[in-house]
Amino acid sequence: MNTVPVEIIRLKKDLRARVKTWHMKGLTVGMVPTMGALHHGHLSLVREIQKYVDKVVVSIFVNPKQFGPNEDFDKYPRQEAEDVKKLAEVDVDLLYAPHQEEMYPGGFLTNVSVTKITEGLCAAKRPGHFDGVTTVVTKLLLQCLPDVALFGEKDFQQYTVLKQLTRDLDIPTEVMCGKLIRDPDGLATSSRNIYLSPDERRIALEIPKTLKRVVREVEESRLPLQQSLDNAIQHLLDSGFREVQYLEIRQSDDLAPVREKITVPSRVLVAAVVGTTRLIDNMPIKAPVA
Ligand code: AMP
Repeated sequence: MNTVPVEIIRLKKDLRARVKTWHMKGLTVGMVPTMGALHHGHLSLVREIQKYVDKVVVSIFVNPKQFGPNEDFDKYPRQEAEDVKKLAEVDVDLLYAPHQEEMYPGGFLTNVSVTKITEGLCAAKRPGHFDGVTTVVTKLLLQCLPDVALFGEKDFQQYTVLKQLTRDLDIPTEVMCGKLIRDPDGLATSSRNIYLSPDERRIALEIPKTLKRVVREVEESRLPLQQSLDNAIQHLLDSGFREVQYLEIRQSDDLAPVREKITVPSRVLVAAVVGTTRLIDNMPIKAPVA
């Protein structure tokens, strides 16, 4: 295990210079953008990207632009010292942790926005969220200019949006998707899981169980698709969720809604609130063999 401390860079000019030296030596560079409070989901992205590139930069920046006015920006967990130790254990080459003023200096006026696939799902209850994400990720990618950037399958809509963003803006970074990591009990690992009381955690476990049931019912054509979804929503509410913000099936490649039949690889995606904590999850659904 590597216990060499991870170097921390706070300024974009220093990040650019470091990545430029790596590129001049012919080394490839990967980036894993995060908001910190690192868990094994984030660390699995690091291990995954290490298979493809020579050097790995992890960024930690709690981006105010992607939080709504009544969301948890102020209480979002910030634990850089612990994060740095975890990054050393997985052999990360560099932590880029810019301060607010470095990312959004006074007079900042620009907004980067992707249309269509940012409508519905997470956007419905979080207006402006994806603009916040696309603006900050554009900045991070332009500051670092990595060859590859890896985003988690857990935030599947976000991954789809960022793939579109780099394609549309000719950002020379390949966007890849890293496997969704779950805690041993099945709950999708998240920095926000620490907000859950033991009771809420028990309720939260109904999410992966319910998604699995929908996948099975739909893949085996046991129930009409909408009925399976309606039953699942009702089950989550009966289990103690305060709100089910969405539970939908979308095509995996372009997030187009699937209304009646699965004909291409698709996904069931959910966002639900237990207590004051909003949880998201998703699972793939196979298309029937033609
Ligand atoms: P966050 O710090 O929550 O903004 O997440 C940073 C990156 O880690 C995003 O690409 C997320 O999709 C990814 N991520 C978060 N949780 C998981 C998880 N359980 N499994 C895989 N990737 C994850």
